[in-house]
Amino acid sequence: MTEPTRGFSTAQVQTGYDSSTPQNSAVPPIHQTAAYEFASLADAADIFALRQIGNLYSRSSSPTQLILEQRVAALEGGTSAVAVASGQAAVAVTLLALAGRGGHIVSAHQLYGGTVDLFQDTFADFGIEVTFVDQDDPDAWRSAIRPTTRAVFAESIANPIAQVLDFETVAQIAHDAGVPVVIDNTVGTPHLVRPGEHGADFVVHSATKFLAGHGTSLGGVVVDQGTFDFGADPERWPQFTAPYPRFGDLVLWERFGIGQAFAALVKTKYVHDLGPSLSPFNAWQILQGIETLDLRVSRQSATALALAEHLAQHPKVAAVHHPGLPGNRWHGLAERYLPRGVPSVFSFDLTEDDAGGTADVHARVARVVDALEVFRLVANIGDARSLVSHPASMTHSHLNAAQRATAGISLTTIRLSAGLEDPADLIADLDRALARI
Ligand SMILES: *Cc1c(COP(=O)(O)O)cnc(C)c1O
Repeated sequence: MTEPTRGFSTAQVQTGYDSSTPQNSAVPPIHQTAAYEFASLADAADIFALRQIGNLYSRSSSPTQLILEQRVAALEGGTSAVAVASGQAAVAVTLLALAGRGGHIVSAHQLYGGTVDLFQDTFADFGIEVTFVDQDDPDAWRSAIRPTTRAVFAESIANPIAQVLDFETVAQIAHDAGVPVVIDNTVGTPHLVRPGEHGADFVVHSATKFLAGHGTSLGGVVVDQGTFDFGADPERWPQFTAPYPRFGDLVLWERFGIGQAFAALVKTKYVHDLGPSLSPFNAWQILQGIETLDLRVSRQSATALALAEHLAQHPKVAAVHHPGLPGNRWHGLAERYLPRGVPSVFSFDLTEDDAGGTADVHARVARVVDALEVFRLVANIGDARSLVSHPASMTHSHLNAAQRATAGISLTTIRLSAGLEDPADLIADLDRALARI
């Protein structure tokens, strides 16, 4: 991992862009072109053979995307990054590159629903097996790792319950077994926590959420922290250490080395072959968002804590799942790993009335959710707008009661993602809606 030479706020506004082009635009331009013209046939041949780095075709990359990659790599303290069309694509290409040849993955079961579908369904089709464990159980991680395990995966902060990962414990177990650690830092954001400082080797993002920040554009990024040495056990990692036939027997580890070879494999194989490319326009939108990342996340974090504290003393609220509250199971981990602020995505449970019955519970939840006016009913997080969702009938609707219990959610659990509105308006909105039950 490399230390950023400048502060976080400076990096989020400036890193990766050099305005000394003939057009000298102050702000990064949108390179909206499908392809690039070569100076000569010799140049074209060198770029195609990876002997020379250069723009080729926008499925592989664009200059706007390269700025985004350098910027996110700097914010996460990594050495290189690959930006792709969505967070789903970032998780998929990262794990295909590590475990794609029939490898095994150990993952926390506290996961984003789309990741669960990818692991259980599509990866199973590809012959990649995933073992799910409770992320708070070190013995479960330890005993799930096999000789064929090629990655350990978890989210820095899961949702809707906002569990905080014990990064260092999980990383220690993975590294003892020679396995790299991949962390989805979508909810954490590099402003609140940089998983690379706590043992992560690769950090993935749904840039759709806090990095973009305005709910306008899909994107995903994977950052290589430059910490995992695939060359130390070459038999285990032939995708890096054996000849890469499509490039005339070039060996990625020799040509690119630690901290760069992973991005080269992801781009030249998985993005090139499967095509989940980031559009230059979306890359630019995400860059615009990142310029205010720390300001937005600090504000959202403070607002979320104020909402959580307010809800915790509300008579219609049975429980608040927020690690910023003393007494929360993950409060200690939040104090240890999140000194700059707590997550702005969290949830709370309504009290149940005495009548009981599932239909009554749903009607009770609907009365509250449908009464909200400032909070918007949207299946997204990390937007400038405050968002509400009901996991049991939306993101987690495919779970049965036992699975819901394992995930820590009930029929009355309501998820909030704090936006940038006035906190007083958000509190008044919640109070008005809760008065309906
Ligand atoms: C949204 C999300 C994803 C998937 O990202 P998309 O950009 O929607 O494809 C992955 N992980 C987490 C934690 C998310 O919230």
